[in-house]
Amino acid sequence: MPEQPSPEQMQALQEKVKNMSPEELKEFQKKQCIFCKIVAGDINSKKVYEDEKCTAILDINPANPGHILLIPKEHFPLMPLMPNDLVDHLFLVAKEISRVMLTAVSADGVSIFVANGSAAGQRAQHFMIHIIPRKTGDKIKLDIPVKEHPQEDIDNAVEKIQEKIDSVFKTKKKIVRKKPEKKKTSGKKGKKKTSKKKKPRSSSKKPKKKKTKKKSTKKKSKEESGVSLDDIADIIG
Ligand SMILES: [Zn+2]
Repeated sequence: MPEQPSPEQMQALQEKVKNMSPEELKEFQKKQCIFCKIVAGDINSKKVYEDEKCTAILDINPANPGHILLIPKEHFPLMPLMPNDLVDHLFLVAKEISRVMLTAVSADGVSIFVANGSAAGQRAQHFMIHIIPRKTGDKIKLDIPVKEHPQEDIDNAVEKIQEKIDSVFKTKKKIVRKKPEKKKTSGKKGKKKTSKKKKPRSSSKKPKKKKTKKKSTKKKSKEESGVSLDDIADIIG
């Protein structure tokens, strides 16, 4: 690691970065990026896969043995900045590697994880996909906590997201949203704060999914989902 720059140097650097064109900025980020150096071979890594567009390396601080980082060879800080064909390619490679994990190290599951932006936990400025073989009860915390939010905030977010999705995907059709049970016969749209928790009518959905499962009911995992990847791994064989 290089020495820490002084506060003056940091300020000068920030000023310089501010005045850069997007191309210059990209070039600059690349020069600072450990993963670009790994791709170039300037920093050692254990590469497990490589093609013309991406490289898969072992994480030096693995969550579990076999934790892999899949990175594009070209420097992109965030997924939305990447060309579509590259995203396609990376996720296809991720899919195959996760399939390998199910069989090669008998993973009970595989976490495929992307931290997009520092608020999401991204630490390196080079886009990467974490592929982590999982064992039942391995206590790796990628669980998404359920937090209470005002219904208003949820509705607001959905509305904004929906609008953008419709414009990006050119889908104008109305997506059916679950409505809170009607308690009033008439009333204005604005006030629906009362619906705190809507129970999804999930029970009717489940049987469909299970239809493809083999007869052998779960062998090991008794987790709440009941979807045993052992069975899937058996099928993949
Ligand atoms: Zn990079």
